[in-house]
Amino acid sequence: MDIEVNYRNKNRYKTARYPLRQRLFWTWLIRLLSKIALHGKDYRVETVGMENLKPPYLLLSNHMHFIDFELAAQATWPYSVSNVVSIDGYVIKFFLLEWIGAIATRKFTMDLHLIKSIRKVLQRGDILAMYPEARYSPCGTLAFLPESLGKLIKLNKVPVVAVVHHGNHLYAPFWNFRKKRKAPLHTVCKLILTPEQANEMSVDQINALLKKELAYDDYRYQKEQQIRITEPYRAEGLHKVLYQCPHCMTEFKMDSAGAELFCTACGKRWVWEEGGSLRALEGETEFDHIPDWFAWEREQVKQQIREDNYSFSDEVEVWSLPRVYRYIPLGKARMTHQPDQGFVLEGEYRGERYFIQRLPLQTNSLHVEYDFGPLKKIDCVDISTENDSFYCKLSQPNRITKLAFATEELYLRSMEKLRADKEAK
Ligand SMILES: [Zn+2]
Repeated sequence: MDIEVNYRNKNRYKTARYPLRQRLFWTWLIRLLSKIALHGKDYRVETVGMENLKPPYLLLSNHMHFIDFELAAQATWPYSVSNVVSIDGYVIKFFLLEWIGAIATRKFTMDLHLIKSIRKVLQRGDILAMYPEARYSPCGTLAFLPESLGKLIKLNKVPVVAVVHHGNHLYAPFWNFRKKRKAPLHTVCKLILTPEQANEMSVDQINALLKKELAYDDYRYQKEQQIRITEPYRAEGLHKVLYQCPHCMTEFKMDSAGAELFCTACGKRWVWEEGGSLRALEGETEFDHIPDWFAWEREQVKQQIREDNYSFSDEVEVWSLPRVYRYIPLGKARMTHQPDQGFVLEGEYRGERYFIQRLPLQTNSLHVEYDFGPLKKIDCVDISTENDSFYCKLSQPNRITKLAFATEELYLRSMEKLRADKEAK
């Protein structure tokens, strides 16, 4: 059982409430501001099969950068939209998000009211927009999709539109989003399911369709469209997601500078060429496609878990977010991540111990932030419960991408076990 933090003020920001309906003024203003933000950028928003589509509908978008919202706003005009937004987006500007009809949630928790709020928005005849990956894509490819999506679609009986952005990761890769690059952006909004079609499909079939329709790979898009990323700093930060050396297998000793990625353990170097391929400066090029390297790392983690060789423990620095006025510094704490126990965060605040646990089945993925602006640009992970969120800065560098892989793999393994147990009964 969790022991909550001993806050002086016991109140929490209430996520369990229905959103306001977005008024036309806000819809208009959001579109205007988005247009201004997109001005001068090379972008194209294409719609497929949406000619006669009117709300209510469910809009599912991939997620790479804030610019995703600005592009999606071009396709949904002139209808009002409610976006599902993470609680950290609410800090200080919560009143604004409430006015524009956003729905607050804590990431990767079992937020039962979220389902009700979504239903309410659709019943009002509006558009419900969701970014089901729930965080920016670390490597420009489709991240983990929760299987609850299929159920949500079955339940609500509205059309489903998939919005797939291409190029947004090339423009602002999550691992170095402050330094933008020149890249053409192409957004495709496509009606993928009518209520009648959804009605005839099983939940698993719907989930398989979503996986197919929302799939993307920004590095493949770069090669196919022959886009050249010429910025001399283009590989800076890439070591945050490519953290394991495929040559000497050492983890967390990768680094990057300029257009190069290198291993500080064995000294091997790779250059990220303007056309989008990686090339080893000497010897074999293990992976010329960045997402292949990323997928290989996931396999390594999976294998460590399978061989009972995975565990993590660290002293972390914690900031929490029980309400949305400011982050509360909680000081140092001990974080562990184990195959059976999941995440455990243990510390002390105002003289009393707190204990937060998230079992593998309670969290299907992990909220990771690189260079997190609100907290002095740290790399951190957020462990959320249903009424609090803990932003943890690790003391060991460059570990957070692996923690996210491990969280997802432990969740999937626990789900498999659960299914096997059910079938055995
Ligand atoms: Zn190496």
